[in-house]
Amino acid sequence: MQLYIYNTLTRQKEEFIPLMEDPNYKGPKKDFVGMYSCWPTVYRDPSIGNYRATFTADLIRNTLKLLGYNVQAVMNITDVGHLVSDADDGEDKLEKWAKREGITAREVAQKYEKIFKEGMKLLHIDEFNVMPRATEHIEEQIALVKTLEEKWYTYTVEWDGIYMDTSKVENYGELMWPNYKKRLADLNAGERVEMGGKKHPTDFALRKFAPENEKRQMERDSPWGRGFPGWHIECSAMSSKYLWHQFDIHHGGADHITIHHPNEIAQSECGFDVHPRVKYRIHNEFLQVDGGKMSKSLGNVYNLKDIEAKGFSPLDLRYFYFMAQYSNFQNFTWDQLEAAKNTRHSLIKKLQWKKTIQDKKDFESDPLFQQIMEAICDNMNTPKLLAAVQWALNTATETTYAIITWLEDNFLKLWLFETIVEEKFDIPAEVIAFADQRVEAKKSKDFALADELRSKITELWFQVKDTKDSYEISKL
Ligand SMILES: [Zn+2]
Repeated sequence: MQLYIYNTLTRQKEEFIPLMEDPNYKGPKKDFVGMYSCWPTVYRDPSIGNYRATFTADLIRNTLKLLGYNVQAVMNITDVGHLVSDADDGEDKLEKWAKREGITAREVAQKYEKIFKEGMKLLHIDEFNVMPRATEHIEEQIALVKTLEEKWYTYTVEWDGIYMDTSKVENYGELMWPNYKKRLADLNAGERVEMGGKKHPTDFALRKFAPENEKRQMERDSPWGRGFPGWHIECSAMSSKYLWHQFDIHHGGADHITIHHPNEIAQSECGFDVHPRVKYRIHNEFLQVDGGKMSKSLGNVYNLKDIEAKGFSPLDLRYFYFMAQYSNFQNFTWDQLEAAKNTRHSLIKKLQWKKTIQDKKDFESDPLFQQIMEAICDNMNTPKLLAAVQWALNTATETTYAIITWLEDNFLKLWLFETIVEEKFDIPAEVIAFADQRVEAKKSKDFALADELRSKITELWFQVKDTKDSYEISKL
């Protein structure tokens, strides 16, 4: 079946033809579909919004694999100091958090990379083929800046850094179309931009010099003296190293459409002399919370620990992600997550003992299989896919179960068969002891201890729910 995917470059759903099958592609021969996903800096617990991006990368990869492609998927780990916003000035995220936590910037990066990867595991997202760290690719980043310098695309702002001159870049900001020319004109008219020594508002730092009076932990030597990379350059350098100068898919959150990705395109196309740099630009939309933006000030930046503390499994969140198409906004509320959990549990109950393995060839012509593939190939329309599964279960046959088994193993990964329904499991004595102690703790109003005991139960993959007189224990 033919995959159609929404391409931000053309603002339309397009037939997916990988470079290896594209007669217009003139680069070196490829035997894989290359995809690169941008991941934010590892300096804090990833939020459920961040994980929506990781989930989308997984969705793209799994879709391509279902269609039989050999996929080379790369996701970067930004473990080098960058600045707190898209602007080129401000405090460095890693250094700021290092100060706050009283550890080194390197330790901050290692700690949060580990947390990120553990979260992926809980969400049943396999690691990507390559997860390169920016700190291990400093040479490649320096080499690209050097090339851009040799081609006269850069200028130096004294005491500050090396900047990309975007006025020399043909079609700079094209990704922001249809209004990009107007947007650029607005920017040039001075819309909220800190110019510093920049020549044009859209120019951006490729390399920052180390400040004279301040010692940063993550500085490196370079042909230009001590300093650190600008925040866009690592994605160009690392994606090229692993996928070559032109590749199939570059994915990231929709927040990258206006700054990070236009800059990534500019420096790559100018540095490597290619156009287009990437054939399909895919962006997942934001996750909202209670109909608004997630923000620290509102206290609604939830992470996986918050989800688990409320008695949900990360797989309920995985089901929740499937409920919206990646390219649309998705609104997170606790009620919605509860609905996701209930639906997932009802599916588990309907499917229990029905795991049926058949050769894919035996059901490829079945209308359910066709519907499922049509939904996936329609820009990964996961709500349509879930609806097809639910509908099919009304009059399920042996083949229905075989198809759902195949879908679960290769795509959904929601533990629809492995999870045992509530009434059929043994509760370890340890869990019961914790739950009993928790009842006592609550009676004596020691809520901190009660919370701690709840976490201990969660760590053992169980959850405790209060009832009128006692409690109920269920498996996560
Ligand atoms: Zn990036």
